[in-house]
Amino acid sequence: MPQQQKLQPIDDAFPDFFFVPGQHNGRYPNANSLLVLTNENPQEALLMDAGIGRHTLQKILHNMQITKVWLSHWHEDHVYGCPLLRKSGATIACHPNDIPVLQDVSLFNMLYKVTDTSLQKMFDEVLQSLGIENIPVVESLHTGKMYNVGNDHIIQVIHTPGHTKGHCCFYFPEARLIFLADIDLSGLGPWYGALDSSVDDFERSIQSVLALNAEYVITSHKGLYKGKVEIKKELQLYLDIIYNRDQRILVALGERKPKTSQDLVGKQIVYKNYNGEFKDYLPIAEGIMINLHLTRLLQKGKIAKEGTGYILQ
Ligand SMILES: [Zn+2]
Repeated sequence: MPQQQKLQPIDDAFPDFFFVPGQHNGRYPNANSLLVLTNENPQEALLMDAGIGRHTLQKILHNMQITKVWLSHWHEDHVYGCPLLRKSGATIACHPNDIPVLQDVSLFNMLYKVTDTSLQKMFDEVLQSLGIENIPVVESLHTGKMYNVGNDHIIQVIHTPGHTKGHCCFYFPEARLIFLADIDLSGLGPWYGALDSSVDDFERSIQSVLALNAEYVITSHKGLYKGKVEIKKELQLYLDIIYNRDQRILVALGERKPKTSQDLVGKQIVYKNYNGEFKDYLPIAEGIMINLHLTRLLQKGKIAKEGTGYILQ
């Protein structure tokens, strides 16, 4: 067993699966990981995501070899440890949809819709401070495929788009454990504020992990959850936030005067307020998310387009 203070097996019954809390409790720009011991002597492991923080990562690498890193998606808080991990000999894998972004990190700003805006400099600085650089991905993770790792552990890759196009969860049927990544069960709710996001895909993705009746889940920013009933409740509450946003938009739209997505930004559809380091960016993300809801409500026949805006149907 790894001699690591920070490493906690998810359960005594599954001694090869370790929950690795990201620094500062996995708060952005850090993210929690799952580590799977794949060899005892010498100690080797597979790591899910690479945002646990340099200090934590170095301590782990001091005691064991991480041979593979599976990335849930391209976002900076999940990948910034990759250069260090690659230097130590790890190879990187992720879903094919997110590979082009990881291999050309200049696309981050484009997908966050900040290229050529006043926010670009700040975003560049954030990515630079995290040490983000192009990440060569040597393996594509394929949906539904069963991967055999270590001590006969089977992992199933579940493509769960919505947050990004290539977002994946990783499922261990023997432990009924899912690494949920940024289906993160946060109070804010599902985040689909980049140009490769989709609210409809996110909804289906939550439904697909709900159907697995997991006994353990690890989320990137909220930690480890245990118990089928608790997990189901949390996932359902998280899913309901999508429906609540639909409802808030319907309430905000009238029958006569059309409103655009920009009219709804800052009206507490997604964010209660704009605070913190990214306060000037949040309206951009909220605008993208509201647009996705408007498209979905239009397709469902709940609203109609009039000129450049929308009215209730
Ligand atoms: Zn993310």
